[in-house]
Amino acid sequence: MSDDNQKTLCDYLEEELQVKDPKAYINLIQPATHFCLGCGRSVVRAENVCKPKKLPYNILYSESD
Ligand SMILES: [Zn+2]
Repeated sequence: MSDDNQKTLCDYLEEELQVKDPKAYINLIQPATHFCLGCGRSVVRAENVCKPKKLPYNILYSESD
């Protein structure tokens, strides 16, 4: 096994995971607890996006995660 499982949802979408394996994709995004500041994608686990931000995102306190 390589270290490929650290891929982000952002990477998976480039490979069209949502088309090739919708079930795996859905498992990554629901119920979403974080979203990606870089791409706007929502995910279950912070490590699955390139710029994770916890939900709900409060603009007023954006300095702290
Ligand atoms: Zn991203």
